[in-house]
Amino acid sequence: MIAESSSGLYCEAGGFHIDPWLPVERAVVTHAHSDHASPGSRRYLCAEPARAVMERRLPEAAIDTLPYGASTRIGDVTVSFHPAGHILGSAQVRVEHRGEVWVVSGDYKRAADPTCTPFEPVRCHTFITEATFGLPIYTWDAPLTVVDDIAAWWRGNRAEGHPSVLFCYVLGKAQRILAELRDRADAPIHLHGAMCALTDAYRDAGVAMAPAERISESMRGKALAQSLVLAPLSARGTVWMRRLPNASVAFASGLMRVRGVRRQRAFDRGFALSDHADWPSMLATIEETGASRVLVTHGWSDALARYLSETRGLETGTIRTQYEGEIGELREAADAAASDVEPRT
Ligand SMILES: [Zn+2]
Ligand SMILES: [Zn+2]
Repeated sequence: MIAESSSGLYCEAGGFHIDPWLPVERAVVTHAHSDHASPGSRRYLCAEPARAVMERRLPEAAIDTLPYGASTRIGDVTVSFHPAGHILGSAQVRVEHRGEVWVVSGDYKRAADPTCTPFEPVRCHTFITEATFGLPIYTWDAPLTVVDDIAAWWRGNRAEGHPSVLFCYVLGKAQRILAELRDRADAPIHLHGAMCALTDAYRDAGVAMAPAERISESMRGKALAQSLVLAPLSARGTVWMRRLPNASVAFASGLMRVRGVRRQRAFDRGFALSDHADWPSMLATIEETGASRVLVTHGWSDALARYLSETRGLETGTIRTQYEGEIGELREAADAAASDVEPRT
C-alpha cells in the first residue's frame, strides 16, 4: 500500500506521498523538520498543531491540516494523524485501505516532553518505523535527570564567569530545553538568531517556556558571562562564536550517549537528550502496534530489521529514505569542526 519511490514514500491507492524529499502533487507530512517537510510540493497535509511551525518552515506552501484522530478520505484510502511525541505537531500517519492498516511513524519518542502531545500507539498490520537510534547502546535517562545536569553545568560555569553555549537542534530541541527550564532558569537565556522565529511559533501555539532573548549584535564577553546561550551546531566555528571567547560548549543530542563521539567532537559536555525513541522504547512501541510486518527507515535500519526478524519472527524490510535526523546533526558538527581548523574567510 505504501512503497518507496524516487521522491519519497508513495501511497498509490491514495495518490499521495508521505514526507517526500522532492516536490510532488500532494505531500502528507509527519512533522516540520526539514528532511521530512521539504519545499516545492503543490499541497501539504499535516496535523493541526503542526501548522504554526510548518508555516514558518514553508512560507509559500498551501497547507491543509487535520486534528489528531480525525480522518479524511484521499483517493481510495482513509488517512488520519496520531501524536508522535517528537516535536510540536509531529504525527504518525495512519492509512487504511479495504480493512488493511498501515502506520508511518515519522520520527517519534516515548519520553515526556512538555512541548508536544505524547505518543499514542496505533494498532496496525504494517508499521513503518524510524530507527535513528536503533541500537541497544542507545538508552536514555529520564529527561528531568538530563535537565538537572544541564542546569548544574550552567550554574557551575556561571560561578567561574564562563558563558554556557548549548548547541541543539533549532526546531524541537531548543524549545524543549526552554520549556524544561521554565521554572529553573535563574539567569538570562539567550538565543542565536536562527532559533527565534521557531521559538516564537511555539509561544504562539501556547507552549510555556522560560523567557529567552535574541543575542544582539553588540552583545559579547562579559555581558553574556551568566547566560545560557542556545545555538545551532552550524554556528560552531563561525565568527558568531567570537563573541563568546571563553565559553563552555556542550551539545544536547542522543549522539552524546556515546562517549567517543563527545571527545572526538571536542565538546566540554554532552547531554544525551533526544527527540527520538531509544532502543527499549522502540521495541516496546513496535510490540504495542501489534504489527506483523515492520519496515524500517532511517538510522540503524538494517540492525533493527535483522533483530526483529531473528528474535520476534516478524516480517521485516528496510526502506531507503533521505531522512537524516540526529545523524545529520553529527555531519553538520563534523563540517563545523573542520572549519574550526581552517576558518572560512
Ligand atoms: Zn524529526
Ligand atoms: Zn527523521
